[in-house]
Amino acid sequence: MRAITVLPGKDGSAELTEVGEPPSSDGPVLVEALALGVCGTDREIVGGKYGAAPPGRERLVLGHESLGRVLDAPAGAGLERGDLVVGIVRRPDPVPCANCAVGEWDMCRNGRYTERGIKALDGYGSQRYRLEPRYVVKLDPGLGHLGVLVEPASVLAKAWEHVDRIGRRAHWEPRRALVTGAGPIGLLAALLAVQRGLETHVLDVVTEGPKPQLVADLGASYHTGPPAEACADADVVIECTGVGSLVFDVIRCNAPGGIVCLTGISSGGREVALDAADVNRRLVLENDVVFGSVNANRRHYEHAAAALARADRARRDWLERLVTRRVPLERWAEALERRPDDVKVTIDFTAG
Ligand code: BGC
Repeated sequence: MRAITVLPGKDGSAELTEVGEPPSSDGPVLVEALALGVCGTDREIVGGKYGAAPPGRERLVLGHESLGRVLDAPAGAGLERGDLVVGIVRRPDPVPCANCAVGEWDMCRNGRYTERGIKALDGYGSQRYRLEPRYVVKLDPGLGHLGVLVEPASVLAKAWEHVDRIGRRAHWEPRRALVTGAGPIGLLAALLAVQRGLETHVLDVVTEGPKPQLVADLGASYHTGPPAEACADADVVIECTGVGSLVFDVIRCNAPGGIVCLTGISSGGREVALDAADVNRRLVLENDVVFGSVNANRRHYEHAAAALARADRARRDWLERLVTRRVPLERWAEALERRPDDVKVTIDFTAG
């Protein structure tokens, strides 16, 4: 079968190659790939800046935003041939730490977790792969190819769950949300904000392409310019760009008791002049919280799948417009290119 593989650490090493069938040690559920989403993490791995091959191997099968169809599943797994499924990305560390031991691998305490397609485990960028039933999430069949959005949405489902949990430290009645970045992560963060009934503002730099209209069609407001002009008193900020200076700007413009969730990963190398005492004062005197959020556990995938199914019924066309390019497997490399009108780009394993 064919798979997109890469030599982690080596820029330009990604190839579509023939590989063996997935080993039964990966799990008893055999899945046929339908689509694979591409994100910044994949581009970093292909660029040699991130990722690790499985122990004893040189190449890693790329891909963690999966969508597949069950070919075979053991009795009692709650899965049947033909089910539309997504594979969970992270696996608990081998110790396991206290969090991994209870299924909260997204909160791993010792960093020894593994991630399919990213860290020490083959990903989902092969025509077939295997999974343990506990890492398979069954989707509403109506979602169709949009099921590929479940993994990125799971990252936001976790972010919002943690915002809610932090909010409940005191009386919590949020009204306004600011999302920075209108890429797939920002737009999915905004979708979940709108589903929560929040007045939602989205900040990005572009004035053209599909993003402004996508935000407007969600019933949210689109802004360019400084965050304080986009929304001066956000109860919740979901930061999705990883732009270092923006992180400190949004801390300055949230409402008292505001919660800022950072989901973007900064690439580094740029220094920001900062009045640390001012940041400290604002956080303390306004009871603000700034926290980071990465990855997702099974509960978050289930929340994401439910939120997308709800959005699918209310705004199918909107979700369809998030997937701006679907590239056939033979032309997989084109999926990694950044084009001006891209939102989410996927690799289609069923075409051709
Ligand atoms: C994935 C997460 C993963 C993170 C860090 C993201 O692109 O969506 O599942 O934990 O990269 O490796």
